[in-house]
Amino acid sequence: MADYDVVIIGSGLGGLLCANILSREGLNVCIVEKNFKPGGSLQTFGRKGTIFNTGLNYTESLDEGQVLNRYFKYLGVLDKLKLQKLDTEGFEVIDFPDGRYRFAMGKENFLETLSKDFPAERQGLKTYLEKIKAVCDEISMYSFSEKPSNMINERHLNMGAADYIRSVISNNRLQNILAGNSMLYSGTENKTQLFTHALINNSFIESAWRVAGGSHTLVNILTDNIVKNGGTIILKQKVGKLVVEEGKIGCAVLANGEKISGKHFIANIHPESLLNMTEPGVFRKVYVNRIRNLENTMGMFTLYLVFKKDTVPYVKHNFYHFNQDNAWIASDYHPEKWPQNYLLMHTCTAENARFADSASVITYMDFAEVKKWEHTHTGDRGEDYLDFKNNKAGILLDAVEKQFPGLRNHVAAYYTSTPLTWRDYTGTRAGSAYGLLKDFNRPLESLITPRTQISNLFLTGQNLNVHGILGVTTSAVVTCGELIDANYLIRKIKAA
Ligand SMILES: Cc1cc2nc3c(=O)[nH]c(=O)nc-3n(C[C@H](O)[C@H](O)[C@H](O)COP(=O)(O)OP(=O)(O)OC[C@H]3O[C@@H](n4cnc5c(N)ncnc54)[C@H](O)[C@@H]3O)c2cc1C
Repeated sequence: MADYDVVIIGSGLGGLLCANILSREGLNVCIVEKNFKPGGSLQTFGRKGTIFNTGLNYTESLDEGQVLNRYFKYLGVLDKLKLQKLDTEGFEVIDFPDGRYRFAMGKENFLETLSKDFPAERQGLKTYLEKIKAVCDEISMYSFSEKPSNMINERHLNMGAADYIRSVISNNRLQNILAGNSMLYSGTENKTQLFTHALINNSFIESAWRVAGGSHTLVNILTDNIVKNGGTIILKQKVGKLVVEEGKIGCAVLANGEKISGKHFIANIHPESLLNMTEPGVFRKVYVNRIRNLENTMGMFTLYLVFKKDTVPYVKHNFYHFNQDNAWIASDYHPEKWPQNYLLMHTCTAENARFADSASVITYMDFAEVKKWEHTHTGDRGEDYLDFKNNKAGILLDAVEKQFPGLRNHVAAYYTSTPLTWRDYTGTRAGSAYGLLKDFNRPLESLITPRTQISNLFLTGQNLNVHGILGVTTSAVVTCGELIDANYLIRKIKAA
C-alpha cells in the first residue's frame, strides 16, 4: 500500500495549491483525481481548434504588490503565466434596460467613472470603496498582517452586501450597478455577505486579467511544480471511501480498490461528498446535519461560441446584461423569464488580439430545469437532453442578439454545459457553481473551517471562505497552515 505524508482528494485549484505548498516544504504528497485531467474547474476543452475555459474566465489583483501577485510569485507561477489585462477604462460593462455603465480599474478611476454618471453619489461611492478595502485589510490572508487564519471579522459575516450598499448609496440604479457582476459570486440579495462581495469587488477593481492560452496553462505550471518536488498525481481514480483507524483516517480507498495511506488527508471536494466517504457515525450528527442543511449556490448554463475567423473584434471587457432592474438575480430567479441576465466574454488567442476566436455566454440555471436527467451521465443523457440544451442555446443566443445584432451570423459552432455537466465534472452538489452559499443570516454555520472532527483530515477549496481563484488560494494557505508552521509560511509568502 502506497504511503504518503499527505493525500489530497481532488485536483481542483485548492488541491493543486496545497500540493505545491506542502511539496516545496519537503512533504511527500499524492493527489488523487477522479477525472482524466487535473484542474477541476480550471480545466479547458478544445473544439474546432478553439480552447474554452470552463471556470476561470478572468482573475484579479495581479499587478505588482497586489494580493494574488504576491501569492503567485511565492508559488513560482507568475513569471510562467501569460496574462492579458482587461480594459482599464471599463473591465466590466454593466448593461441595464436604461443604459450601460462601466467598472474602471483602480480605485480613483472607478470612482471618477461612476461619479460622472451619478455625481450626487460621489461621497457614497468613496465610502463604499474605502469599506470594501477595509474589509479585505482585516483578513489576515489578504493583508499578510499576521499568521493565516480562517477567522473573518464576524461583523462582516453578519452584514449583507445588498444592505450595506443600500446604506451608503441612495440611487437604486447605482445600488444595482455595484452588484452588476454579482453572478461572479451567485449574489443573493437577502443572503450574500458583505465579506464575499468586498473580497471579490475590491480585488477585481485593483486589476482584472485573462489567462492567455487558457486556464489549463495554470494547471500545467502547478502540476509540473508538484512533480518536480517529488509529488505524485493519480488521475482517473475516484476516492470512494476513507477508512478510519483508531480515530484517524488511515487510508483512502480508490475506485479500483487500491488503498493509499497517509499521515494527513486534505479533501478538496464538497464537504457533503466527504461525509458520504465515511461510515455513518464518524462525523457527529450535528456536523452532518449542519453541512447537509446548508444551501448551495445556483448552477450555470454556459453557451460556448466558436466564431468564424476574423469576423468578431475582440473586446477587452466582460459584458453583464440584465433585462430587468434588479441585479440580484440568484434571489429573483424566474424560469419562465429565462434568461434574465447573462455574462458575455470574448476570448482571443495569444497570437491575435484583434479578433475574438470565441466567446462564452453564462447565465444562471436552476437544477430543477435538468432534474429529470439527474440519473444520467455525461455523454449518455439521451436525445431529449440534447434537444433541451439546443433549445436553451437558441433562446440565449436570441437574447444576446438584442445587444449584439447579427452575432449569430459569425458563429461557426456552439457547445453548451448545464448544472448537470458541473455536477459530474467537479462533484459539486446539484451542479452548484461555487459550492456552499455563505449566508449572513447563518454566519457561523456557513463558515467552513479547514479542520474537521478527525484530527488528520482537513478541507480546502471553494467551500471554505470564498470561492474563485483568489478565495481558493487564500484557503489553500490557511489549510496548509494547519500542517506546517503558519507563521513561517506567511513570512515566506511576504518575502517572495
Ligand atoms: C461557470 C463558472 C465560471 C467561473 N468563472 C470564474 C472566474 O472567471 N474567475 C474565478 O476566479 N473563478 C471562477 N469560477 C469559480 C472557480 O472556478 C472555483 O471557485 C474554483 O476553481 C474551485 O476550485 P476548488 O479547488 O474548490 O475545486 P474544484 O475545481 O471543484 O475541484 C474539485 C476537484 O475534485 C475532484 N473530485 C471530486 N470528488 C472526487 C473524488 N471522490 N475523488 C477524486 N477526485 C474528486 C473533481 O473532479 C475536481 O477536479 C467559476 C466557476 C464556474 C462554475
